[in-house]
Amino acid sequence: MNLEQKFKQTLAKIKLENRQAVLKKDKILVALSGGKDSTTVAYLLKKFGYNIEGFHINLGMGGYSEKCLRAVKELCEQLNIKLHLYDIKKEMGSSMCYIRQGIQHEKKGLKNCAICGVIKKWIMNREARKLKVDKIATGHNLDDEAQTFFMNILKGSPQLSANSGVVTRNTKDKKFITRIKPLFYVAENDIREYSKKMKLPVVYEHCPCALDSYRIQIRQFMNTLTTKEKENIMKNFDSLFPRIQRLKTQEKLQYCEICGEPSRNKICRMCELVSIKKNSTR
Ligand code: AMP
Ligand code: ZN
Repeated sequence: MNLEQKFKQTLAKIKLENRQAVLKKDKILVALSGGKDSTTVAYLLKKFGYNIEGFHINLGMGGYSEKCLRAVKELCEQLNIKLHLYDIKKEMGSSMCYIRQGIQHEKKGLKNCAICGVIKKWIMNREARKLKVDKIATGHNLDDEAQTFFMNILKGSPQLSANSGVVTRNTKDKKFITRIKPLFYVAENDIREYSKKMKLPVVYEHCPCALDSYRIQIRQFMNTLTTKEKENIMKNFDSLFPRIQRLKTQEKLQYCEICGEPSRNKICRMCELVSIKKNSTR
């Protein structure tokens, strides 16, 4: 099966999992990083006639962020889609690097990508809701997902993967915008090849702050596996999924007491991190 077929099949699978199809009339906000994966998602959704708009968070990380912003602007012009920009320096007062350093000053063990991931998801959900979109699409690919699932197994906590999948499986809530991952079953190498073949405007270099050594180690190991083996990891994930879900403690979605965003706890992860940062700069 080629990349485009896998992409379409994944969109069909989302309907089965979510009891809600990805419809042509849905407004889908594509979270564009400037990298090959999310760029390919936008290109294909547009190609297949979906109603999309782009969303980019400018993380303010010097030359790397400038290149990403340029690529995203170029893509949206080429696809003739609206681009929504969120400038983290303007909105939050400092670049992702400073926000992260403040947090890490107080909590040494927290990894760059983990902090950045929490902040980006929080921004995405809030902005997508303001824009009244039906869904958010991200560029997560087979390698990302196999890596995460594998790391959770190595940690002895497969239940950490209980909310993962082609579509977010959280309890449905009006404040929570469903996120979809149309490249969930497509290998990173195939996406790289496809985006080059289609000459899409892409920044191919890695984020300069992605320095989580454990994840890098796992990625290096996973790079020694074939695509078939990575697919097998995710086949295991799919067949174990009902059992993984049973391991999960029953969670009730509530609204964060500080920011009002949907959260699993009284205070959401984002506000927890931001309060750590405030303490560090006092
Ligand atoms: P990452 O967390 O960097 O692995 O990225 C996962 C997905 O989040 C990407 O495929 C994009 O869809 C989205 N994303 C990452 N960075 C950004 C960004 N700066 N702006 C908007 N979306 C992003
Ligand atoms: Zn909060």
